[in-house]
Amino acid sequence: MLTQLNFQAPSTELKKLSNIWLLVSGFTCNLKCRHCYLSCSQTNKTRGFLNLDKIKTALNGVKNTPIEEIYLYGGEPFLNRDINNIIRHCLKITNVTIVTNGTLINDKKARFLRQIEQDHDYELIFRISLDHYTEAKNDEIRGKGSFKKIMSGVENLVNHGFNPIISAVNIWNEDENSLKEGFLTLLSKLDFQPTDINVKIIPVIKAGEYEKNYSSYEEDDIVTKEGVKNCNINLFDCTNSRVVTDTGIYVCPALLNDPRGKVGNTLSESSKKFYLEPNICYSCQTGNRNMFTNNWNL
Ligand code: SF4
Ligand code: SF4
Repeated sequence: MLTQLNFQAPSTELKKLSNIWLLVSGFTCNLKCRHCYLSCSQTNKTRGFLNLDKIKTALNGVKNTPIEEIYLYGGEPFLNRDINNIIRHCLKITNVTIVTNGTLINDKKARFLRQIEQDHDYELIFRISLDHYTEAKNDEIRGKGSFKKIMSGVENLVNHGFNPIISAVNIWNEDENSLKEGFLTLLSKLDFQPTDINVKIIPVIKAGEYEKNYSSYEEDDIVTKEGVKNCNINLFDCTNSRVVTDTGIYVCPALLNDPRGKVGNTLSESSKKFYLEPNICYSCQTGNRNMFTNNWNL
C-alpha cells in the first residue's frame, strides 16, 4: 500500500490553452444517469447556469489566445435558454462542440442549428452521450426510454447534415473494439457514413453517482511517477484545457466537485501547474489518453 507520507504526486503544465469548456447549464440535467460523475439532475442546483455576459467576459480575457475548440457542456446545455446566442457568440471565435444527451434535439431544432452553423465560418459539432449500442444496456444507465430519445436526436442531426460523435462510458469494461464496432453498426443505419471519429469511448470515472451506485477508487488508485512512466502525459486534458463555471475556473471537466480542481478566477490567471493528486486522475493514467476532448488525431 502506498503511504501518503512524503508522497509528491506528478504534475502537469498547461502548455497551451487550446480548449475551453463552458459549464453552460451548471449541474442541471433532464436525465439522471447512474454513472454521472458530476451528479447532475433536474434538482441539482449547486452550480448555476452561465449567461452570455459571463461567457463574453471570460472569453474576452483570452482574446489573443488562438483557441481551437470551445466545448459547451453541463448538465444538459440545451436547458440554458440563451443557448442559441451562446452558440452564435462562440462560433465567431472558433469551432464549437456541444456535449449533450441529444434528447432535446427535435427536427426543428436540428434544422435551426444547421442554419446557425451555416451563418458562421467555424464548425458546430455534436457529441452525444449514449452508453451502449443496445437499448437495454443504455437504458439501464441513462433511464428507461432514453435510448429512443437520444437516437432520435442523433438522427435529426444526421438528417440536417451534421456528423455527430457518440461518446460512451465503458461501464461494463467491454472490449473497446467490439464496443466501437457495435456503435458503428448502429450509426450506419442512419443516412451517413460513420468512421472511427464518430465514436469516443471514455473510461469510467468513479465519482458522483458512479461512486454511489457502483464502486469507488481504491486507496492506491493514484497517479504515481512509476505509473505515468508508460503514459503520454501530454495527452491529458489538463495540459491544454480549462473549464469556466459560475464559481471560477477549473482544471478539467471532471474535477468540479473537488476543491483542488479550482485553479483560478479568470482564464488568464488560471494556474498552469497541477498536481495529479485526485483519484480521478488515475482514470487518465489508466486510460493514457485525452478523456474529454474530441479524438481529432484518429
Ligand atoms: S451523464 Fe450527462 S446526461 Fe447523464 S445526468 Fe450526467 S450530465 Fe446528464
Ligand atoms: S482528471 Fe485527468 S485531465 Fe483532469 S486533472 Fe486529472 S489527469 Fe488532468
